[in-house]
Amino acid sequence: MSRTNHDLFARARSLMPGGVNSPVRAFKSVGGEPFFTARADGPFLWDVEGKRYIDYVGSWGPMIVGHNHPQVREAVERAIRDGLSFGTPCPAEVTMAQAIVDLVPSIEMVRMVNSGTEATMSAIRLARGATGRARIVKFEGCYHGHGDAFLVKAGSGALTFGTPTSPGVPKALADLTLTLPYNDFDAATALFDALGGDIAGLIVEPVAGNMNCILPREGYLQHLRALCTQHGALLIFDEVMTGFRVALGGAQAHYGVTPDLTTFGKIIGGGMPVGAYGGSRALMEQIAPTGPIYQAGTLSGNPVAMAAGLAMLELIRAPGFHDELARRTRLLCDGLQAVADGAGVPFSTTRVGAMFGLFFSAERVETFAQAMACDVNAFNTFFHAMLERGVYLAPSAFEAGFLSAAHSGDVIAATLDAARGAFAQVRG
Ligand code: PMP
Repeated sequence: MSRTNHDLFARARSLMPGGVNSPVRAFKSVGGEPFFTARADGPFLWDVEGKRYIDYVGSWGPMIVGHNHPQVREAVERAIRDGLSFGTPCPAEVTMAQAIVDLVPSIEMVRMVNSGTEATMSAIRLARGATGRARIVKFEGCYHGHGDAFLVKAGSGALTFGTPTSPGVPKALADLTLTLPYNDFDAATALFDALGGDIAGLIVEPVAGNMNCILPREGYLQHLRALCTQHGALLIFDEVMTGFRVALGGAQAHYGVTPDLTTFGKIIGGGMPVGAYGGSRALMEQIAPTGPIYQAGTLSGNPVAMAAGLAMLELIRAPGFHDELARRTRLLCDGLQAVADGAGVPFSTTRVGAMFGLFFSAERVETFAQAMACDVNAFNTFFHAMLERGVYLAPSAFEAGFLSAAHSGDVIAATLDAARGAFAQVRG
């Protein structure tokens, strides 16, 4: 079988929808063809043709210590010697639960699952079961995985491909999902004033990372907290992206807001397929087998996944880890801004912790509407110009970027060098 990117993609497309197992990977919105990764190490990916890329996607978030970190790899190697899956409780699950409870302010109990999607689906089932209410609230442009209830005005690939509300979600179910504009205080107040008594929970990405990267306005998360408390709805922070990234204790620690339930994925699995959800003991004990709300998983708490996740959490607990990542993210964003300004390209950035957004717009972007108004063609040109120069950004104008501890000053400097040529190309 041929080992060029092009030949692999041609073959893949005949075997899998779009040639991929997750839509954004297909490069459909940026045009062109994806590369196929042969291996990854530190801040780099190498494709099957041997080309090296500086990677700002990091497997879409998990690889916060860089790819193929020896401590994570060795933990996995040790774990697999004892078997791949047991179907009984295993010690690593207890260690993992303890780590999450220790690190995340709002969590007293946790349940492990296999993906972010499972975590969010389970969290809203719990919210509905615990409150006896049916409606949930989400934000336009936020993505919470591909559960039916969330594919209403969704972000990420659903947004990128122009199908934010997916066919296949029954109208009766979609009608139970109410949507709000992110960062709009009054719209949230008005919705709760009208329907607050019917709302089981409000789910939010505390930093919106699936419509590019939009930070909460000052006091906005506190406002959502107050509305939920006032109306007896549960506040659910989807920290699949922000968890253990914007701060060790996630966005809830960074912004000082305590949600009722929190969902995790990505970093918590160290690159293995894992998710989790947690909250107070009183809420979590309503889950089976202590309570009647059912949720289960054949491979949940998998010993190999727990080993990878635990090794990752161990590494990111090092003193100053997140401060250093935030410093380097600032270096990258300020550097890109300076290059764009020098080239005369309208451009702005956002960042929090090791997460950032790049906007082809001169104004500071704080809303979904502003994110939508950015110059997508300019982004697509920039994306390909960077890729050509060996820098891989998320292949969509509506995704956040991620930095890892392996992105050294030299790697960032090389990125800025590439950006000089790329911004010149955007200016035309
Ligand atoms: N929530 C958020 C905030 C996400 O960014 C994602 C994935 N990008 C998910 C949920 C879904 O996670 P998964 O892809 O692991 O199902």
